[in-house]
Amino acid sequence: MPYQDILNLLLQKTHTKGLLLHTFQYNKSLLLHNKCTNVVYRQLNSCNVIPTSISKWESELVQYGAKICVNDAFNVCFKTTKDTQLQWLQFRLLHRILPVNHYLKKIKVVSSDCCSFCKHEVETIQHVFINCEKVSTIWSNLSLHIYHAMSLRLGFNVVNILFGELPMSKNNKVINLIILCSKQYLFTCLKKGKLPCLSGLLSYLFNKYKVEKYIACKNFEMQKFVNTWQPWYSIFDTMIQS
Ligand SMILES: [Zn+2]
Repeated sequence: MPYQDILNLLLQKTHTKGLLLHTFQYNKSLLLHNKCTNVVYRQLNSCNVIPTSISKWESELVQYGAKICVNDAFNVCFKTTKDTQLQWLQFRLLHRILPVNHYLKKIKVVSSDCCSFCKHEVETIQHVFINCEKVSTIWSNLSLHIYHAMSLRLGFNVVNILFGELPMSKNNKVINLIILCSKQYLFTCLKKGKLPCLSGLLSYLFNKYKVEKYIACKNFEMQKFVNTWQPWYSIFDTMIQS
């Protein structure tokens, strides 16, 4: 669908509660794309209605006691990084419109909702990022790697994997970036039909770290960058040496 048509569609529908996301859900060309644009975000966020997806997330995660603050959730999405690919991934996750097989089957894009990693469970957002047997070990290995590298006990759980670590602080900013990048890595593996592994994740994280460094350098914010990242350098030790 042409870009201007997408905008026109959004402009027509924003006044009607609930219809915005409904329209958006069927906008396959945009949803399947790796990036979004500020214009589309502004249009979507101008609708002052709490997304129904947030209450759906809360009821799905009721056993974990998840109470989601909408502002915090969207702040983690947009204030952790300026990387638009990561923002778009998290934005679609929050709105439950990330193109995983369960959702793609619902909108008739694919015929099977089977998980591309383990091949025997339904591929939902929660499954591919947390519960899948091929993924849960990645989080525990990453946690172990961080502990060995910097003696920090960082546990990954359903709530911080999906919505980020709160409150938003300098230290949590790096943790949130690591979580966002890890999800992007897992999602990229899923779409490429590759199984994720810790070494692949660490090199993906290192590349994203270099992108953040480049952005900071371009914006004359190197001192801030160094202060934020210095405690975390040791998690990249093996990559910096090689
Ligand atoms: Zn699976």
